[in-house]
Amino acid sequence: MTQSSLPADIIYTARIIRTANPSRPTGTAIAIRDGKVLCVGTLDECRSWGISNVDTRFEDKVLTAGFVEAHSHVMTGMYHSIPYVGWFRRQMPDGTWVDGIKSTDELTHRIAHIAENTPPGESIVVSGFDPIYLKTERLSRHHLDAATTLHPVFVFHASGHLATINSFALAKYDIGPGHPAPGVGFDDEGFPNGELREPAAMALASDEFRAIGRVIAQPDTLVHFASSMRNAGITTATDLGAHLHQNERVLTTTLEATSNPSFPVRIVSASRVIGSVQDMPASVEGIHKAQQQSNDKLHFPIVKMVLDGSIQGFTAVIDWPAYHTGEDHGLFLLPPEQVVDFLRPFHEAGLGIHCHCNGSTTSQVFIDAIEQLLKETPWLNHRHTITHAQLITQAQMKKARNLGMSANFFVNHVFYWGDQHREITVGPDRAHSMNPCGSAERMGLQFSFHTDAPVTPPGHLHTMWCAVNRITASDQILGEHERISVDRAFHAATIDAAYQLHMDHMIGSLEVGKHADMTVLEDDPYEVDPMRIKDIRVWGTVLGGVPFPTPTT
Ligand SMILES: [Zn+2]
Repeated sequence: MTQSSLPADIIYTARIIRTANPSRPTGTAIAIRDGKVLCVGTLDECRSWGISNVDTRFEDKVLTAGFVEAHSHVMTGMYHSIPYVGWFRRQMPDGTWVDGIKSTDELTHRIAHIAENTPPGESIVVSGFDPIYLKTERLSRHHLDAATTLHPVFVFHASGHLATINSFALAKYDIGPGHPAPGVGFDDEGFPNGELREPAAMALASDEFRAIGRVIAQPDTLVHFASSMRNAGITTATDLGAHLHQNERVLTTTLEATSNPSFPVRIVSASRVIGSVQDMPASVEGIHKAQQQSNDKLHFPIVKMVLDGSIQGFTAVIDWPAYHTGEDHGLFLLPPEQVVDFLRPFHEAGLGIHCHCNGSTTSQVFIDAIEQLLKETPWLNHRHTITHAQLITQAQMKKARNLGMSANFFVNHVFYWGDQHREITVGPDRAHSMNPCGSAERMGLQFSFHTDAPVTPPGHLHTMWCAVNRITASDQILGEHERISVDRAFHAATIDAAYQLHMDHMIGSLEVGKHADMTVLEDDPYEVDPMRIKDIRVWGTVLGGVPFPTPTT
């Protein structure tokens, strides 16, 4: 970078600055040089560096260390081109809002409407559908057949682990009675009901499943993803389960997009551990190559493994007494006995491992695998992370802590699916212990939280609100002993997430020498009524000292 392309030295003043740096937690001015934090303190302290360029646009606002999202997906940008059919009203990447779908009838109508404007035979793909809220019968091919018999329909569920297709699509792919693929659902008569569980089954509907993949790989989608993140005040976001190390074209377009000064977020791309054990060394090599091309806004410090499904889809693998309803489709997505072999090359290469474990059985498999790897190859600073860790037990947390592991809780579940977990999936006892931030804090297990966007909308004000209040969608407290303070929640949303990404020396707090990345808020999460934290308006962000307002600002 030449000297002239660096932003000029600048001081921003604010109502208050929350740094997430425990030795200097607040200030009212921040001085920035070369895009980095030069000083946080009073205006006079900042001026002592000889900077006269004082920008007062944030005088009435609250600046915080930029929010870090340690588990999200570029796929979040897909809602720009794939219709959203979820339960909750939701903001799209361009800042507009789409109303939620409250019944299967409404879904049928929305798809019928799309069908009217789609040539016969052409695929209809919609996303974000969340069947667990519907009191009516489970979505099946019949509901979708009522929308159209002339198009293959693919309804991608919010969990990302399930899809429902119509009879036209079943016929198109020859999925009939007795189809042997695991994950194909059948009705009482033994005929496929349209449900496809987990990627191997969803991939049977190859054109439609691939269409989602194509949208995700479009350069546009990355830009819409980045906009969604900026709108939510996120300054570093992850794409967990990417394939950049194997896809030269997507790597090139991602490098181009992220090196544009107007790109509003830092991206952490985490390659998916998938395929066969023999492929893993080549994966490591691909990631090392990508690392050599990384820039300030694109990083490759970790990999992602997925070990089971979702709790609300009954595909997470959980211990005795299993699911409260008896429904149990628990599915290991990789053979548990091979987990150590899959992970060894990454561990030995010094790459952090984030493993999706929704169920308690799965958390145990991952924790045991890390214990084995650490015996083989000690690495004191590994920070391997159990991501979701929703049903992790007290004993598992202690063992994870002893091994130097970390947890990334899916605390948004308390609000979005807490009622369903108490009444349907895991029952009244375990539901209270889900995403146990309070216990983790008490025993000293390092943790952060995530939204898993697009599974839930991006934004850490909502995760903080969930962790502090633990209120379900029906307004009840779930797990009062797992609530944490605003201060603890703020650290989980910033510096502790950066730690899990091996990036806390660069981002996550406003400390001298780190990137000047900030979230700009209209109110102070520490000062408002804790029940209002999620409603605080996001003005936008500051990335490397450069302001990035949202479109509605
Ligand atoms: Zn995810």
